[in-house]
Amino acid sequence: MSSKGRLVLYVGPMFAGKSSHLIKAAAAHERVLALKPGFDTRDGAELVSRDGSHFAAQSVRQWPSQADEYDHIVLDEVQFMVAPHYEGDIVAELQAAKLRGAIVTVGGLDSDYRQQPFEIVSKLMQFADDIIHLEARCHTCNDPARWTAKTHETGRLLETGDQELYEARCNAHWCLPEKP
Ligand SMILES: [Zn+2]
Repeated sequence: MSSKGRLVLYVGPMFAGKSSHLIKAAAAHERVLALKPGFDTRDGAELVSRDGSHFAAQSVRQWPSQADEYDHIVLDEVQFMVAPHYEGDIVAELQAAKLRGAIVTVGGLDSDYRQQPFEIVSKLMQFADDIIHLEARCHTCNDPARWTAKTHETGRLLETGDQELYEARCNAHWCLPEKP
């Protein structure tokens, strides 16, 4: 067992630049396995950030067998890697990769649009060696924002979307969406 493995976790609301940080982490190494959840069909086989950067990534619904060959693994949108969209225990799999010596860099939403924690991200926070909390800018007042709000209720907790469905909000301006 190597001692150099690390789990680095970027958390925050939508629009906080998580993907941009992950793409920078991926681009800093020559051999990197970049992963995204199969559930997230936006942007095809790439991690894409809103600042225009991108990095080739595999969409996965289970842990890829070739992951053991990589010393650097980058994974975005980890909150979507839950049943029935993902077959396996992503927390245990990332932890195992770290323990065999890989540098694992993960991004995810810490809270859903109801201000409730994504359990899988809470669990990862327990094992992470570094946790970087990113903030967005409040859609209403431009203050630092740590919450994601939905612009209208769709009845779905796990749902990909962009500015047509989600906004970053500060403490004062976060609210639940109105019922349809
Ligand atoms: Zn605000």
